[in-house]
Amino acid sequence: MRLILLGPPGAGKGTQAEVIKEKYSIAHISTGDILRENVKSATPLGLEAKQFMDSGKLVPDDLIVSMVKDRLKNPDCINGFLLDGFPRTVNQADALEKMLSELGISLDAAVLLEVSDQTVVDRLSGRRTCKLCGAIFHVKFRPSAKGTQCEKCGGVLYQRDDDKEDVIRRRLSVYYEQTSPLIKYYEEKGLLKRVDAEKSSDTVLTLISELFG
Ligand code: ADP
Ligand code: ZN
Repeated sequence: MRLILLGPPGAGKGTQAEVIKEKYSIAHISTGDILRENVKSATPLGLEAKQFMDSGKLVPDDLIVSMVKDRLKNPDCINGFLLDGFPRTVNQADALEKMLSELGISLDAAVLLEVSDQTVVDRLSGRRTCKLCGAIFHVKFRPSAKGTQCEKCGGVLYQRDDDKEDVIRRRLSVYYEQTSPLIKYYEEKGLLKRVDAEKSSDTVLTLISELFG
């Protein structure tokens, strides 16, 4: 199965992706996670990407496209994959189509997680991420049983620089300007599946699973 997850920041793409990946034994490819790893280990890509990420802007397409191209060659993608946070521009979507046709494969669906702006702000401003394993919590909606530490691995929970309220507003406007045109893009290809992502994450997972039987 080959899927992309669409939707604004805070729609729950990362959370759903982790579960879908296990359920269907496919690779979870999060461009945000790959970028953050590169920032952490200070690779040339990370150093270049950091300034864009911290201010809520998109990292230039050419950097992202070559990163994804490499990642799709990994053997763990043989069973299929779930792209989370990519494509984010029409240009990236065209590049993806080209990559896949070169590999002789195609997408099965683009799943759109729909949420309101207010939900996005509420979810992201309370989001806390584990420094060690990347697990995601929320101060109100999903607190860690270990308080300010990750309940899975004990790592420190922190607030991403781009989860501060002014940067969240910026990310939302970037989403509307540059990413939301992909809704029509995939609708016209007959690949778009809409899911109400205001619901609880368990319900959202059920809705997504129903799409694929
Ligand atoms: P979000 O919670 O906004 O979905 P991500 O973890 O997917 O956050 O991405 C964090 C940041 O990484 C983005 O704001 C952007 O700067 C950069 N980024 C991630 N994926 C892409 C992409 N496909 N194209 C350009 N920039 C990206
Ligand atoms: Zn952890």
